[in-house]
Amino acid sequence: MYKKTGKELNSLFLQKQISAEEIVAYFIKRIHAFEPSIQSLLSTLESRALEKARALDLKLSQNKPIGKLGAIPIILKDNMHMKGEKTTCASQFLKNYEAPFDATVTTLIEEADGIIIGKANMDEFAMGSSTENSSFKKSYNPWNLDYTPGGSSGGSAAAVAAMLAPISLGSDTGGSIRQPAAFCNLYGFKPTYGRVSRFGLVAFGSSLDQIGPFARSIEDIALMQEVIGGHCPYDSTSIPNSKEPYLNELETSIQGKVLGVPFSLLENIDEEIKNLFLDALEVYKSLGVKIVEINLDLIKYSIPTYYILATAEASTNLARFDGIRYGIRSPEAKTLEEIYEYSRGLGFGPEVKQRILLGTYVLSAGYQDAYYKKAQKVRSLIIRDYKHAFEHSDMIALPATPTTSFKLGSIQDPLKMYMQDIYTISANLAGVPALTLPIGFSASHLPVGMQLQGPLLKDARVLRFANHFAKATNFHQKLAPLFDKEAS
Ligand code: GLN
Repeated sequence: MYKKTGKELNSLFLQKQISAEEIVAYFIKRIHAFEPSIQSLLSTLESRALEKARALDLKLSQNKPIGKLGAIPIILKDNMHMKGEKTTCASQFLKNYEAPFDATVTTLIEEADGIIIGKANMDEFAMGSSTENSSFKKSYNPWNLDYTPGGSSGGSAAAVAAMLAPISLGSDTGGSIRQPAAFCNLYGFKPTYGRVSRFGLVAFGSSLDQIGPFARSIEDIALMQEVIGGHCPYDSTSIPNSKEPYLNELETSIQGKVLGVPFSLLENIDEEIKNLFLDALEVYKSLGVKIVEINLDLIKYSIPTYYILATAEASTNLARFDGIRYGIRSPEAKTLEEIYEYSRGLGFGPEVKQRILLGTYVLSAGYQDAYYKKAQKVRSLIIRDYKHAFEHSDMIALPATPTTSFKLGSIQDPLKMYMQDIYTISANLAGVPALTLPIGFSASHLPVGMQLQGPLLKDARVLRFANHFAKATNFHQKLAPLFDKEAS
């Protein structure tokens, strides 16, 4: 059963070949067996999930209508709220924090009869690329336990790659869905900014954050987007009337379409990744797609631009963690100043502190023009470059990451870690939809992914391009060998 996609499990359930309770119990058993070796979850919602499953079985037996995600086990990154459950953001600051309301994605999943079975580990407040910044624990890559599953949504990716659930949600501010997807042989989708509601997602960089799914099939990505990709009145940046029939459009032909490739950006990349990327372009050619060269040279500046804007936004967003309203309060503090100072000193980890300092600096009087405003200008130029590129192409192809997964503990230099996002960040700066898809394996058996980026609001087109590639190849069907077995 673990090999089945979410959609296949849903069909078995609807045909009454298996009950929702059996499905949930099965995946909980897998969690018990395999979670100790990958450490992908921060909480397991066993009794809540089983209760939901039993209620769903009753609903089916009474012939009531069942939602699109009926009986599919789903895992959420631990920065999305579920009322009455913990939302820790993998931070000591929120280690005991219980969400007072449901995130919109939680509501939509539960209304569609999906069953949330756990909450995933992540880099603290989604800052990082390896999940090593979690203040609770490291997660391990199911393809090789010495390696990172990527980050910041590393737990969400590791859980799906170890088949603890067919689908999970992550959040992507600069690549946090697409980089772990590449490291774990998964599809990982960052929708158009504003497509999925951010209500109930703990904010990192509000102008960049987007929620999106991980899965082992493109149908599951499309299915999830049909459920979570709609307008939400509680998020002022949510796009109105933006539902799309993702599943229906998957088969529409891409013959004669134009794929733009910024070849000049392939210079500083692992040779293995470059070759697999070029092979993937050949697959597209064989599908009747035309490859053209485009210019996205400004992507070179996306890292400094992002690390100014994202830290500025983070320093503002994280100001609410003051020791008074949320999370922990230092017991040593005697004055108001000390409450702020000691609580923040105690609650935040080193990377988060570094980013708050950076963000405060780039926003400070005297430096705002030199850094923050200049970065905003570069962001506008990057947006313009994308516009131009899409005048000549229907879709853009890029590598997902400059390297394959790296060994846990092997990157200590923050700047080196920040370079992980060189190919992913520009899609957040421009707001465009972007997907990682599996395109093969390195000589050391680590997964390699590539990225498709589409024009604003053309999310369905991105999934369609990926679907045709999936039909012509079978990389996405390869499962992590260590977990390709039943729980005993
Ligand atoms: N790795 C990037 C960072 O550390 C992106 C994180 C994300 O997308 N949440 O900020």
